[in-house]
Amino acid sequence: MAQSTLRAKEDVQTFDLLSGHKIPAVGLGTWRSGYEATYSVTHAIIEAGYRHVDTAWEYGVHVEVGQGLKAAMDVGIERKDLFVTSKLWCSDLSPERVRLALMNTLRELKLDYLDLYLIHWPFRLKEGASRPPKAGEVLDFDMEGVWREMEKLVAQNLVRDIGVSNFTLKKLNKLTGFAQTMPSVCQMEMHPGWRNDKMLEACKKNKIHVTAYSPFGSQENGRDLIHDPTVERIAKKLNKTPGQVLIRWAIQRGTSAIPKSTKLYRIKENMLVFDWEIPEQDFNVLSSISDQLLVQFANFNGLPGMSIRSLGFFHHFTSNVIRIYKPYTVARRILTKLKWVLRGLRTFMNVYV
Ligand code: NAP
Repeated sequence: MAQSTLRAKEDVQTFDLLSGHKIPAVGLGTWRSGYEATYSVTHAIIEAGYRHVDTAWEYGVHVEVGQGLKAAMDVGIERKDLFVTSKLWCSDLSPERVRLALMNTLRELKLDYLDLYLIHWPFRLKEGASRPPKAGEVLDFDMEGVWREMEKLVAQNLVRDIGVSNFTLKKLNKLTGFAQTMPSVCQMEMHPGWRNDKMLEACKKNKIHVTAYSPFGSQENGRDLIHDPTVERIAKKLNKTPGQVLIRWAIQRGTSAIPKSTKLYRIKENMLVFDWEIPEQDFNVLSSISDQLLVQFANFNGLPGMSIRSLGFFHHFTSNVIRIYKPYTVARRILTKLKWVLRGLRTFMNVYV
């Protein structure tokens, strides 16, 4: 289990980042929160004790999130006690656009600095690209150039930590190969139905903290783990809700989790995960829930890696690619074996018949 500490005042668990800063173990997700983001952010901070908010330019809720943060600070919550994450969108993934994108984000959020700025997806898109992008709309991504600009944001105190999201292991290795400031955080989809063990291990080895998004199995085309019989059974046994069990599972793996809700009772419920543990046996049962790959494979409805989803077309981009990769690999192996058998049979026929 990763090192963690308890904040004396709020009793909110945090994880240590490479930079020496701390990230609260539970943050409020804001994807698809819409105009309700102001309400959810305000009340999450003031009434439920959240100190960590996750957002992104792509979610279109920066202004609402900013209003929520301001409302909380107006009643005495200090900026230094909040941890705000936002993300650099694909159309801004070129060195000359990084600073401008961050300045726009700060302006919309009405903040002087971000705690964490992530590369949202490791793909560069042409401005105004269709969803999914057409041929020619996915451009070359100068990862090193972009990262150098991200590093400058840290040096200029505009951002306290920088990191990545939805990176594959290969891309993460490429980045760590040239990074002068290492990514503090790698954010990725992670829940018992999609555990991403290899990435988690790689990040741990590099001391990169992992934040698990979609801890309940995702809002779109994902797996509804809230109603999974195993999760429900363990939740009942522990006298907790399925949502709490899923968040606690993430924390016990050493990852922070960013559940989204716009309902205050759930926002509160999702934070009550610090004074109890999932026993090892149940933890292991959760960790062996069947993989999501077949479910996702069946739902796959576009070109490989281009799941056609309303706005969040890139959501699950990487994981879908990986999910179809496995059945594809299995099918390819079977075909290869079949080819060998046929070749052997032909040789046998040529030689002996
Ligand atoms: P999620 O947090 O796993 O699930 C959210 C859904 O669960 C919502 O429909 C919410 O409904 C419901 N919910 C919340 N608490 C619940 C509870 N205790 N019991 C039952 N249902 C509950 O999904 P997500 O929004 O995909 O992921 C969370 C956050 O991660 C996002 O909001 C975003 O900030 C981040 N994210 C990042 C990326 C990335 O590319 N980096 C991608 C996806 C998500 P109500 O609102 O009605 O309560």
